[in-house]
Amino acid sequence: MIYKRSSALFAEAEKVIPGGVNSPVRAFKAVGGTPVFVKEAKGAYLYDEDGNQLIDYIASWGPMILGHAHKPVVDAVIDKAKKGTSFGMPTEIETKIAELAVSMVPNIDKIRFVNSGTEACMSAVRLARGYTNKDKIIKFAGCYHGHSDSFLIQAGSGAVTFGSPNSPGVTQGTAKDTLLAKYNDLANVEALIEANKNEIACIIIEPVAGNMGCIPPKAGFLEGLRQLCDANNILLVFDEVMTGFRLAKGGAQELLGIKADIVCFGKVIGGGLPVGAFAAKAEIMDHLAPLGPVYQAGTLSGNPLAMAAGLAMLEELNTGDVFSSLAKKTEYLHKGIAEVLERLKVTHTINRLGSMMSVHFSEGQVVDFETSAKGNNETFKTFFHGMLNQGVYLAPSAFESWFLNDALSYEDLDKTIAACEAVFS
Ligand code: PMP
Repeated sequence: MIYKRSSALFAEAEKVIPGGVNSPVRAFKAVGGTPVFVKEAKGAYLYDEDGNQLIDYIASWGPMILGHAHKPVVDAVIDKAKKGTSFGMPTEIETKIAELAVSMVPNIDKIRFVNSGTEACMSAVRLARGYTNKDKIIKFAGCYHGHSDSFLIQAGSGAVTFGSPNSPGVTQGTAKDTLLAKYNDLANVEALIEANKNEIACIIIEPVAGNMGCIPPKAGFLEGLRQLCDANNILLVFDEVMTGFRLAKGGAQELLGIKADIVCFGKVIGGGLPVGAFAAKAEIMDHLAPLGPVYQAGTLSGNPLAMAAGLAMLEELNTGDVFSSLAKKTEYLHKGIAEVLERLKVTHTINRLGSMMSVHFSEGQVVDFETSAKGNNETFKTFFHGMLNQGVYLAPSAFESWFLNDALSYEDLDKTIAACEAVFS
């Protein structure tokens, strides 16, 4: 494949944008080579600046669950844009999307919209602290909740890809209030709670982890967290930025049957525009300003274009059966790739739940950050570039989940499986 124009554009970008990108993983540092500059996208395909067509498995890191440039979403945005792009005043569409989201997701009465997943998680934690009058939080090694200070402690995703899970710039004062636990290890969480009695405001978790590759929760793990939270007056915060409106209408709460106290959203809820949200029962949400003392705000929050895209997306997801269609496609891909890797004797473990999956190039089960980090990055690089050369775009880091979109056809999946075979043959 030719990347002449992408290379030239990257060189230009590097002069004026740190690392040439506005979010680190895009730069291909973990896999080497030149990042692909995308020109446009439609359905399951990306079209880059050199004219290559790529089957897309990142779906903008999650949001484009129905494929790119999905007509109802695009039409809704165009329609709204003609009527003004921002007012900083209440609009009816904010209530409409809130009503729909509340009807789709279990255990929430009220929702507030922000502009990113980072903001959603940051605000959820502030709300949990304000509500419980406690300062400390528990997060899990390898989970990523955005780039807000209190989360950059053993964070996953780009933070670990670049070897900086603990970022300079996060003060000791902030770091001391974030307690670190091991994913899928209930005894570890119990010990932390015991050692910090009556000091923990919330446990924040990706109910299905996607930022150390895909790692589903072990049976009983989330149930155990729920019980520990109830017994110790701790709020359970589900970061459903990846899983929300992807695993089921009601996200991981619905699919796994566990109740969270506060739920964070991003990605799909904005239909591809910059949107995040956090939600809970009214009793908790009413602690937010202007009703309560916990402050949180945003000039562009509830932006009409973003709300139009999000509403059109949720309306589509609320009808039809996208979630099981996607889960079936993901299972098909999983089985196809597993068959190839087994036959060609490539050491691997594939994790999957719903339409999230990842291929870990490691021996044994991948259940937490430690086991995920054992994956062979050289094999991953070979895999990534081999797939790219055959027109398949995977996340350029081993520490990411794949995101399938419903525009993918079984023919696309077969091509992907064949590409995998060609790489390792
Ligand atoms: N939480 C999770 C689980 C995420 O995967 C991400 C982003 N990948 C975030 C929070 C942060 O969202 P954003 O990048 O929109 O700030």
